[in-house]
Amino acid sequence: MIEDKNQQRTQLSDLGEFGLIDHLTKNFKVSHKSTVKTIGDDAAVLDFKDKKIVVTTDLLLEGVHFDLSYMPLKHLGYKAVIVNLSDVYAMNAKATQITVSIAVSNRFPLEALEDLYAGIETAAKVYNIDVVGGDTTSSTTGLLISVTAIGEIDNDNEVYRDGAKSSDLLVVSGDLGAAYMGLQVLEREKEVYKVNPNSQPDLEGYSYIIERQLKPEARKDIIKLLKDLKVKPSSMIDISDGLSSEIIHLCKQSKLGCDLYEEKIPLDPQVISTCEEFNIDSTTVALNGGEDYELLFTVSQDDYPKIKANPNLTVIGYMKEEQAGIHLVTRADAKIPIKAQGWKNFNA
Ligand code: ADP
Ligand code: MG
Repeated sequence: MIEDKNQQRTQLSDLGEFGLIDHLTKNFKVSHKSTVKTIGDDAAVLDFKDKKIVVTTDLLLEGVHFDLSYMPLKHLGYKAVIVNLSDVYAMNAKATQITVSIAVSNRFPLEALEDLYAGIETAAKVYNIDVVGGDTTSSTTGLLISVTAIGEIDNDNEVYRDGAKSSDLLVVSGDLGAAYMGLQVLEREKEVYKVNPNSQPDLEGYSYIIERQLKPEARKDIIKLLKDLKVKPSSMIDISDGLSSEIIHLCKQSKLGCDLYEEKIPLDPQVISTCEEFNIDSTTVALNGGEDYELLFTVSQDDYPKIKANPNLTVIGYMKEEQAGIHLVTRADAKIPIKAQGWKNFNA
């Protein structure tokens, strides 16, 4: 589908492990004072003075988390960084450093890894992160990429999943379901391509949802916005698995219930039209699709005036006592218990 523009194929064995690491990491610059020692020694050294530090890791496996037949390596590198930064921001922290570990088979030439690292470098630049280390090893099967992200918290500004209070407002950034629908379009085009390799992918009219799948962003801007608005969420989580499963996390950990209003769930028009085309319910997509990397958080009702006019934020429900349970209030005003259902369950 997406053609490999890079025709040159330099064998990894021509460089050796250290040559490879040097080659891939030579462009990384340091921009944080907390980065004392970076790539090149046995370990990185970081000095955060008296700050609290957050650390988070994600592991991405070829065939499980990504499919290289439609995921360009550059996008994969970008996304591998983004999914980790999203977790740092979900703690209300500032992301500062990452380490990147890869396992590659010799099916990949150097040029492929250069693409992967170009994506990593772009993400590091856009989000102002120092790449301070990693590990490189060979793989007998597919590609594996693991990123660890490190961040700092000013004063006592950390936000956990367990801090929500009954009657707090439930708020989400951006819109939901687009990454999942982008994946549906890419999977469909892959099937078409299998049948007819000469066909050109028909991706027109799907640019937003495909971008949300292939090049997601982490909501660093929302952390700044909340700071500027002087709103500290009582609890927060990022939406990686889907709205329903993240709501359940906030409710369970805060020992609360919740009413989520179907009519309030923010959806992009392209998600709505693509759902109609695929004959899928858009609410189900928003609830269970995942990979949106938006922030879901709760705020005190006193903060409502500060957030209500903001186009980036939507109040989608409110927290209740635990006994009330966790429900979706439908457009028809029916109450349906929210379950963390994956798509497999839904289809069955
Ligand atoms: P060790 O043998 O101690 O694991 P390595 O030779 O693997 O050390 O790594 C040398 C240096 O290069 C270390 O600073 C390490 O963090 C860094 N490094 C190794 N692989 C990568 C990678 N894929 N991306 C970024 N930095 C890396
Ligand atoms: Mg190593």
